[in-house]
Amino acid sequence: MSRILHRSLRNEPLLAVSGRGLMVQGATGAPVIDASGGAAVACLGHGDERVVEAITRQARQIAYAHTVFFTCQAAEELADLLVGHAPGGLTHAYFVSSGSEAMEAALKLARQYFLEIGQPQRHRFIARRQSYHGNTLGALGLGGNFARREPYTPILADCFSHVSPCFAYRFQDAGESDADYVARLAAELEDEFQRLGPDKVAAFVAEPIVGATSGCVTALPGYFPAMRAVCDRHGALLILDEVMCGMGRSGTLHAWEQEGVAPDIQTIAKGLGGGYQPIGAILAQGRIVEALAAGSGAFKHGHTYQAHPVACAAALAVQRIIREDNLLANVQAMGARLETALQERFGNHANVGDIRGRGLFWALEFVEDRASRKTFAPARKINEAVKDAAMAAGVMIYPMGGTIDGRQGDHVIIAPPYIARPEDIDEIVARLGRAVDAVL
Ligand code: PLP
Repeated sequence: MSRILHRSLRNEPLLAVSGRGLMVQGATGAPVIDASGGAAVACLGHGDERVVEAITRQARQIAYAHTVFFTCQAAEELADLLVGHAPGGLTHAYFVSSGSEAMEAALKLARQYFLEIGQPQRHRFIARRQSYHGNTLGALGLGGNFARREPYTPILADCFSHVSPCFAYRFQDAGESDADYVARLAAELEDEFQRLGPDKVAAFVAEPIVGATSGCVTALPGYFPAMRAVCDRHGALLILDEVMCGMGRSGTLHAWEQEGVAPDIQTIAKGLGGGYQPIGAILAQGRIVEALAAGSGAFKHGHTYQAHPVACAAALAVQRIIREDNLLANVQAMGARLETALQERFGNHANVGDIRGRGLFWALEFVEDRASRKTFAPARKINEAVKDAAMAAGVMIYPMGGTIDGRQGDHVIIAPPYIARPEDIDEIVARLGRAVDAVL
């Protein structure tokens, strides 16, 4: 019996043996196509020798250097690559080891910024229901993933509150225009600012494309500018969580590039290192860092493994490859092919209520009844059943739920590596089709 406290104490996971390109081989069974990048992580697929080489070179040179004493070349070059050209005004990067750590750092940077500029009363963060920002206590409190939050509610901080997401399939009223829906959501955010006291709010936090909790939910045009306007009116920051949807997954390097806004602070993680090493980051606007520089002179935060040399070397290699191999263009082209293939295969399926996403980030939402959009009973665990059937059919897709309140709703995410070829996309959809047929 395994001595690891696995995610499930009932079923031991398959032992992973090797990975090459899109294929992953377990200790038993045939190889499977990794059509979800794990959890939208493996953006380059598996076993890219250029990344392996960069990791090895860095480990030989120096594997660890504590940031109290040193910086390292890989971290410096990675920061230059990410924010050297100040995209959207983002000028500084702070490297951590995961998406949750990035979210914690974003919250603390926002809080410290307001302390530094003489607004110590700002300590409230508004996020959205049906969102996920990580599993550490700050990020969990911030998020609106009901199922993951619920057991821990008594130990979560009370500085977080939640408003409705922009989720047209589930929450746009019948007959309501897109503009009216966006205006309703902006009014709700404004009301929440007023309820809390507008000068107490530090930031509004959102995923540009909602990942795990709702399944690749894009916002309606105009939504993010409307939210930004509310934040600006009250002097609060906009923090965008691109841990899952960022670093090329949406077809542009940053998902916010397609939304008409730039964040004050942004978090990134999964596609940053592509799974070759654990790494995440926050990217921050110059004025935020300048406020700290002019004030206390330090970001009062830190982790033992921040800006880890080997992790930064891996991410630097991954990011260079995305640029050198022109992979964003491939994400756009393969994303279009995936959308068409999903529509053709599942567009008329009685139990596929919605097919949504962008770039190489797509989800199927399963429903018991298409017309009423009624969800399946939670006990049926449709998303898990589809995941298991998909593994049996030789394709890995990411199962999630929580569309309504975290206890109902089923979707699966299809997020193949950016290197996917047309025949990979077709095979993924064919295998997924067989899996869905086996369950529904
Ligand atoms: N934010 C978003 C949007 C995520 O999807 C996730 C993980 O799925 C996180 C934060 C947390 O990242 P991690 O699991 O690396 O801590």
